[in-house]
Amino acid sequence: MLNYILEHNEGKKVAVIVNEFGEVNVDSRLVKHTTEKMIELSNGCICCTLRGDLIQGVNDLIRSHEVDHIVIESTGIGEPIPIAQAFYVQPELLALNPELPNIQSKVKVDAIITVVDSAQFLDMYQKHSLVPGDEFKRGYGQLLAEQIEGADILILNKTDQASESQVKTLRELFASMNPRADIIEACYGEVEINRIVNTNIFDIEIAEQSSLWVAELEKGESSEADEYGIETFVYSTSERFDERKLMDALQEGLSDNIFRSKGLVALDGTDDAFLWNHAGRFLEFKRIGRFAHPDDAKSEIVFIGQSLNKAELKQQLDSAHSLDLAFNNYQHK
Ligand SMILES: [Zn+2]
Repeated sequence: MLNYILEHNEGKKVAVIVNEFGEVNVDSRLVKHTTEKMIELSNGCICCTLRGDLIQGVNDLIRSHEVDHIVIESTGIGEPIPIAQAFYVQPELLALNPELPNIQSKVKVDAIITVVDSAQFLDMYQKHSLVPGDEFKRGYGQLLAEQIEGADILILNKTDQASESQVKTLRELFASMNPRADIIEACYGEVEINRIVNTNIFDIEIAEQSSLWVAELEKGESSEADEYGIETFVYSTSERFDERKLMDALQEGLSDNIFRSKGLVALDGTDDAFLWNHAGRFLEFKRIGRFAHPDDAKSEIVFIGQSLNKAELKQQLDSAHSLDLAFNNYQHK
């Protein structure tokens, strides 16, 4: 796809920054100018450890060359939003060297593009294993969900190797996970250049709002199934969950046809608010703050899946409420 952009640049001067993570060469310098307009950043990741080198690399390119566009190719484990922040947030706030050149007025992010292997995406998304080499120890589902939800443009590539139902399922799934993204189908990385270059689509404020889909769904209701069965379900209750019962109910995991779910959970015995964040085979459950008032404590979890058994899911969650305690309270009155 990178090659395709370079070959079809329509007279524009395109430079490339590539982040290689796997090929660790201890002796090599972090920043390698492979050709005058191709910079390779290795031995780290540009969304975290090499963010300063990324800023330096972009500065080098625009100072020494006439460049219209820069394509930054991240590794498979890079997170898109932190990379984009390198161009909008002061280096000090990113815990970077404040001496780094100020490039904020010189470049702007045009679009974050995620390229998906249409035939393999769902298998990879549902893998039980952690992503190798990822220092944050994320599972495949978690990492891929970030890359899907953080993108402005999603390219479903290799559609020639995928079945029609695989492609349509991905289309429906991605439209739910990231309602604002432009979804483009492609073979061999061939995409109409003006759909991906100079789009002016990126907006840092929108990008930093994580999980737009959750906000959208919380406003509305559960959706009916699309043609390939992708649908959403909003579970909402003011009953508090019993932590042990909830964990027991989740012991066997969520069923395979639930691809993504996220929301807030109120537990019995505390006014702390817990984040439920699930993608693929991974469910993260952690304290993220406190409900302003005990009466505000409410659980709301949004699910995206294929042919969901909503009644069963609701029952599974209802059975984890702390009804015993509610009953006791009632008796004491
Ligand atoms: Zn990183």
